[in-house]
Amino acid sequence: MVDVTLETLDVGKKAFDAATIRDLGGALRGKILDQGSPAYDEARTIWNAMIDRKPGLIVRCLGAADVIHCVRFARDNGLLVAVRGGGHNIAGSAICDGGVVIDLSQMKSVRVDPAAQRAWVEPGATLADLDKETQAFGLAVPTGINSTTGVAGLTLGGGFGWITRKFGLTIDNLLSADVVTADGELVHATTKENPDLFWALRGGGGNFGVVTAFEFQLHKLGPQVLAGLVVHPFDDAAKLLKEYRRLLESAPDELTCWVLMRKAPPLPFLPSEWHGREVLVFAMCYCGDIKEGEKAMAGLRGLGKPIADVVGPNPFVSWQAAFDSLMTPGARNYWKSHDFAQLSDAAIAVLIDATRQLPGPECEIIIFHVGGAAGRVAPDATAFSQRNAHFGMSVHARWREDAMDKRYIAWAKKIFDAAAPIAIGTAYVNFMPGDEVERLEKAYGTSYHRLAQVKRRYDPSNLFRMNQNIRPAAG
Ligand SMILES: Cc1cc2nc3c(=O)[nH]c(=O)nc-3n(C[C@H](O)[C@H](O)[C@H](O)COP(=O)(O)OP(=O)(O)OC[C@H]3O[C@@H](n4cnc5c(N)ncnc54)[C@H](O)[C@@H]3O)c2cc1C
Repeated sequence: MVDVTLETLDVGKKAFDAATIRDLGGALRGKILDQGSPAYDEARTIWNAMIDRKPGLIVRCLGAADVIHCVRFARDNGLLVAVRGGGHNIAGSAICDGGVVIDLSQMKSVRVDPAAQRAWVEPGATLADLDKETQAFGLAVPTGINSTTGVAGLTLGGGFGWITRKFGLTIDNLLSADVVTADGELVHATTKENPDLFWALRGGGGNFGVVTAFEFQLHKLGPQVLAGLVVHPFDDAAKLLKEYRRLLESAPDELTCWVLMRKAPPLPFLPSEWHGREVLVFAMCYCGDIKEGEKAMAGLRGLGKPIADVVGPNPFVSWQAAFDSLMTPGARNYWKSHDFAQLSDAAIAVLIDATRQLPGPECEIIIFHVGGAAGRVAPDATAFSQRNAHFGMSVHARWREDAMDKRYIAWAKKIFDAAAPIAIGTAYVNFMPGDEVERLEKAYGTSYHRLAQVKRRYDPSNLFRMNQNIRPAAG
């Protein structure tokens, strides 16, 4: 360990001698990485290749005690801190420049109690880690659609995917959390114990402390679900989307169908003449009896003249990873999103026009479909208040060359501006890039003021600010 200078919360610098850093390291089970450590570059690399930050120290924690030591060290010295779970966040808030990264990525344990239908999950686990452990017992927690995403960040923002309409958001299945708060104390949060903190953790992001364990309610599922893709020529998009909207009005909670609009990737089941041409894809999953699923999907699968229909029984664990190959780490990414109450004609027109102007082969627009059980939870029951956001758009600009940043970002922003008048104003904080600070209060919706009060109680000096940041309410 060498002398090191670290970024402080007041945007200054503070120098530490090697002995001080060695003392911190000696208290830990995990490892401290500095800029000279062989694993440093790998440890500072996250999913979005646009984020190229150089922390002063990365502390690879192995347990709650390590996290407590790090938080106290950062708090006592007024240091800039970032918290890393799965490292998937588009804004790149898992990594800071010059400060200390509390890296939880090595804490991956998932323990399932099949009889009680509960799972205890450490904050470095990915969705794949969670699904593999729970599916061994025919159980599942609703999470997201890309298996390399971290459970921690996803949960703290809300969390939705293929089985959310049946079982609720990820946070609706959170039973308790262990949290190291800004004063370096470990607290347990449930609806009964520290209920204000527990409310805020469910949608308020990483603002309130470092979660070292999540306890989830599990549900019986699978191991097979009826799931897959139906791919259509994009020329039919307007008609298809209106029919999609009509059919979903009577969809059972078991059925979820998202829409992807993009240039067709060279997938083996697509005829080669379609590769690189615009397509509309219905991605659907029925999380119940397979025969009932066939009936529930018949309307959607009967629409138009598809280029391919690859819907069939799939192991849930495989379906959860079905999009991984399109969402690999290492590309430059910029996202813009809106929440919609309904998929209006105006929204459809904006999305079709935007797809016609896709700037590159990896860009896409996703219409996500929520509602169902998630939509029946009271808006003030958790910090995730936008329970009426039954649809949303997520515009994914994705490219490789840094010289093209402006062009791709401009495309995403143009769609965002065009859709703004028809959106409901809230946003899913987990889909927001790092440059939307002015939008935050609206994004958190009716929860914002209560979140700011809870922030004042648990983190009055705003130690945890590398996130979609909620400022502590004035005293
Ligand atoms: C390809 C892709 C697909 C996605 N699909 C979905 C989807 O289907 N559904 C969905 O809901 N979301 C989805 N997301 C969004 C995802 O939920 C967020 O990116 C989320 O932040 C990822 O969590 P992470 O732990 O990997 O992130 P990280 O980047 O590690 O962390 C993000 C932030 O969360 C906070 N944080 C992380 N861990 C902790 C902790 N233990 N304690 C306190 N704070 C913590 C910190 O503020 C951190 O900056 C997707 C993202 C990507 C990139």
